[in-house]
Amino acid sequence: MRTVKAFDYIVVGAGSAGCVLAGLLSSDPGNSVLLLEAGGPETRHWRMKIPLAWRDTFMDPRLGWGYSSEPEPHADGRRIPVPRGKVLGGSSSVNGMMYSRGHPADYDGWRDLGLAGWSYAEVLPYFRRSEANWRGESLYHGGSGPLTVARHITDDVLYPRLIATAERLGYRRLDDFHGAEVEGFSAPDFNVHRGRRASTAARYLRPAMGRPNLVVETRTLAHRVLFDRERAIGVEYARGGALAQAHADREVILAAGAFNSPQLLLLSGVGPAGDLEALGIPALHDLPGVGQNLQDHQSVGAVLAASGPITFESQLRLDRLALATLRWQLTGTGALAGLPVAAQGFLRIRPETRGADAQFLVSPVSMGARSWFPGWRHGAGHVFSVANVALHPRSRGRVTLRSSDPKDAPRILFNLLERPEDRETLRHMLRFVRTFFATEPAARLVKQEILPGAGVRSDAELDAHIRRSVATAMHPTSTCAMGVDAQAVVDAELRVRGLKALRVVDASVMPGIVGGNTNAPVIMIAEKAADMILGRPPLPAATLPI
Ligand SMILES: Cc1cc2nc3c(=O)[nH]c(=O)nc-3n(C[C@H](O)[C@H](O)[C@H](O)COP(=O)(O)OP(=O)(O)OC[C@H]3O[C@@H](n4cnc5c(N)ncnc54)[C@H](O)[C@@H]3O)c2cc1C
Repeated sequence: MRTVKAFDYIVVGAGSAGCVLAGLLSSDPGNSVLLLEAGGPETRHWRMKIPLAWRDTFMDPRLGWGYSSEPEPHADGRRIPVPRGKVLGGSSSVNGMMYSRGHPADYDGWRDLGLAGWSYAEVLPYFRRSEANWRGESLYHGGSGPLTVARHITDDVLYPRLIATAERLGYRRLDDFHGAEVEGFSAPDFNVHRGRRASTAARYLRPAMGRPNLVVETRTLAHRVLFDRERAIGVEYARGGALAQAHADREVILAAGAFNSPQLLLLSGVGPAGDLEALGIPALHDLPGVGQNLQDHQSVGAVLAASGPITFESQLRLDRLALATLRWQLTGTGALAGLPVAAQGFLRIRPETRGADAQFLVSPVSMGARSWFPGWRHGAGHVFSVANVALHPRSRGRVTLRSSDPKDAPRILFNLLERPEDRETLRHMLRFVRTFFATEPAARLVKQEILPGAGVRSDAELDAHIRRSVATAMHPTSTCAMGVDAQAVVDAELRVRGLKALRVVDASVMPGIVGGNTNAPVIMIAEKAADMILGRPPLPAATLPI
């Protein structure tokens, strides 16, 4: 076994959180940092750069882990695909780039669990520090951070009609989902920098790569954390077919994401003692919450045929795509520089929920869209795809080990739709789609419902559609949850409870999933964690209007 020299900090996983940590911890030349990443270094792959190519990116097996869930008992026994980035930037290098923080009430809920420092007023300064928002600096936004938040160019025909429909139904028209009001309809912002994907690899890590105090090892699979009694002292990993160890003088930080951070803790003997012993792993520290409490947004689609050639399908004609590619290369603008999203709404369906509990996303394109040309091949047709995303599901899943071999994928069970409230929310959303597209002026944009189909009406019929098609929004969280109770894995400073010099910093620490896309919240968590690790005082809380 080769032992490399010691570092002050070892960060495992160069994803959304890991790249932020590596960039911030190494900004002080006095700190030496080792960043270990299982995937490769190819952040300059053309697919990754082009926002419009995001589907090809996350489905590219060379850039991901290729996980799928165990058969989901309440979703017709289907195995749900679980895309995750395995490359510098992690999932931020393959995700949909949509910028969302969730609802302020999500973070106030964390504070109410007893987690000091995590109210919205206290995390807002970290959201601001991370972003360069197109709106510029304000109470709600940062103007000069690393993470570019770009304005979405909306369609002149569709956007005004969809927003007018929302207003007619009594919803608010918003200019900004992250201002004083956060529930209503608008266009989402995207993490796109000059027409290119703004992953954390591009925006936090790449500028730090030349620093002599930062070592980045790619194609390196961490196997376990090394301990001296209860203190983490390093990491064992495999690289180029050989096992090696690196030592951490100050801390080991797991940033391997909601599936692999709990996997690494379990492989290291930290987790439910009975489960570990059953696999022949000596239990170093009995921590029953590791891998439990898995949450993800549950999503069901609806598809409507457009009333004419008014959708993004027109842009996918081969000659137009070729011109758009040229424009993108020359100017970083045009159809390739964004995602075809017509409008987005954050709504409250269940009155008892704090904040919005449903995300309604209208895309003027089929999920199976492809380039086309007359005489060559047909396109997917002019349709609207609506993603109905339940933001606060009650069902809980878990991540467990398949074996004690670090190369084996963990077992992932979401337990989607286990709770009746989750099915009810999704039924409600499918019915909302019908109401929305039966209301003018949106009604004029569509001619018929294709999925679930106009004949699918009763609760039982809708439930069957939901079971057949439910997926996750690819936002897994909460498997190493921060908290103060016996199930908590980390404390409010993200330190693994009962151990020393070991933190978890990624989506797994969220005590409960936030009501929005999760990339920006993970980046905020890593920004805040960097101050904790470096012993800096937290940024002063924002003063928000009541
Ligand atoms: C297809 C897709 C679309 C999405 N769309 C959006 C969106 O539009 N907007 C949004 O806000 N969020 C979106 N998300 C979610 C968001 O990207 C994630 O919540 C976020 O990236 C998670 O960050 P993380 O740091 O927790 O994990 P990741 O970014 O997944 O990072 C974990 C890293 O650890 C590495 N790793 C894991 N195990 C090991 C090991 N043993 N050794 C070494 N390295 C290891 C992984 O390869 C990876 O690079 C999407 C996610 C996906 C997959």
